[in-house]
Amino acid sequence: MIIFLAIGGLSGYFSDRFKKMLKLNRTLISVNQETMVPNTNFMDLIPESKITYTVASVIISDRNNINEVFGFELFNRVVNLTYVHLIKGLPQESYVMQSDSHLLWVMIPFQDTKKDTESIIAALDTPIIVNDVNIFVEYYIGAGKSSTLLECKTMNPFRESDRFARFAEKNNLPYAYYDESKAVKQHQFNLLSEFKNALDSNETYLTYHPIIDLTNMSIYQFEALIRWQHPQKGLIMPNDFIPLVENTQLVHPLVDWVVNTGLVKLHEFNEKEIKIRFAFNISAQNFNDLKLYDKIVNFLKNNSIQPDQVSLEITETVLMRDPETSKVVIKRFKDLGVTIAIDDFGKGYSSFAYLSQFEIDYVKIDRYFISHIKDKAIFKIVEASINLAHQLKFKVIAEGVETLEALDIVRKLKCDFAQGFYFSKPVHQDDVINYYLTNPGFEEKQNES
Ligand code: C2E
Ligand code: MG
Ligand code: MG
Repeated sequence: MIIFLAIGGLSGYFSDRFKKMLKLNRTLISVNQETMVPNTNFMDLIPESKITYTVASVIISDRNNINEVFGFELFNRVVNLTYVHLIKGLPQESYVMQSDSHLLWVMIPFQDTKKDTESIIAALDTPIIVNDVNIFVEYYIGAGKSSTLLECKTMNPFRESDRFARFAEKNNLPYAYYDESKAVKQHQFNLLSEFKNALDSNETYLTYHPIIDLTNMSIYQFEALIRWQHPQKGLIMPNDFIPLVENTQLVHPLVDWVVNTGLVKLHEFNEKEIKIRFAFNISAQNFNDLKLYDKIVNFLKNNSIQPDQVSLEITETVLMRDPETSKVVIKRFKDLGVTIAIDDFGKGYSSFAYLSQFEIDYVKIDRYFISHIKDKAIFKIVEASINLAHQLKFKVIAEGVETLEALDIVRKLKCDFAQGFYFSKPVHQDDVINYYLTNPGFEEKQNES
């Protein structure tokens, strides 16, 4: 009995020690001994739960040669402090691990990929100070699909977020992330990485699509539409690259290029004493950018353009996303003299009741409705839309008028302007002045048919 008790006691003692040693061992193998940051083994210690995580990679860039100048020990300290800032700044139940010397992997309880990515940026917006020296560290962040812990353990979600982070690094963007609705595939990645260069090297150009004043059937305005003549892939249409660009910070150089290039052309028109107006498409990310206003004021000044020659096309979703800010931005542009159009109206979920709170000038009825205008129900919608818009003092532009029949209908409905292939396809930037000068107006074309 005593022997049994002794053996039992001893084995209890040993198994306790064994457990403690195991625990210590697990902790040791779960932590990078140089930086004291958990490594990827740490994932096995995360308790199972139903949470899904935004998976992100943070590249700690060493462009400033921290390693070379200060030595790897200091760099390890930088990695450690980066980890500390992340853990302090991110929501509870977030995890941070070191997967490579310059790379951290982050798991944040999923809310919204963009918001979660931005919370990483906010957490890293704390100076890294080592021995009283403020060290300038650059980070590049990539975020992938939201994933469960089980999926994270396969490492696949991190490989995807690594790709986004490398993409951000290559293009000098603070971050790039996965958007559920616009999943970016590998070949699209390659396309995106070429886009910045395309803007700088004249691979992009503008075409101009006339908008016709239906009261006198003459050209009222041109809408600038971007094209990308890729050296290998040929002509790429905006729907194939703008949604990708809108996922990244490249959306800012894009709008700068489009508006500036357009206004240079408008200046050429003005020099020929032709007073015409140009419309530009503005992405949501541009519209919410506080710098947009000043940039446009500068482009106008540099090209001696009157603001009333310019219209900005935004979509309903921009207004719905952040109505209060949009109101302020719209008011600033209106006070300047720039007009505002709501593009693709009817495609989103807003209503005229909703639009009435904004100081807008034009509503462009989406092409879908015009191409189906022979359908009775759609006709009724278009008719009611035009009447309501007029009551609210908005002018109406019918998009996508392709046939004389459609034109006749929208004219009868007292639509103010029309745009579409019936009149013309978008005109190349090199031909647009000539096109305008030689265009006899569209009344004859209507009479002819
Ligand atoms: P959007 O602003 O609604 O522009 C109208 C689009 O409809 C243009 O296509 C135009 O060519 C096309 N369209 C107009 N009338 C007709 C018609 O009668 N029939 C048909 N089949 N199509 C017609 P595009 O040039 O391919 O542009 C597509 C979209 O890409 C634009 O839609 C706009 O949202 C975006 N986009 C184009 N250029 C820019 C740009 O410079 N910046 C931004 N942010 N977006 C742009
Ligand atoms: Mg447009
Ligand atoms: Mg449109």
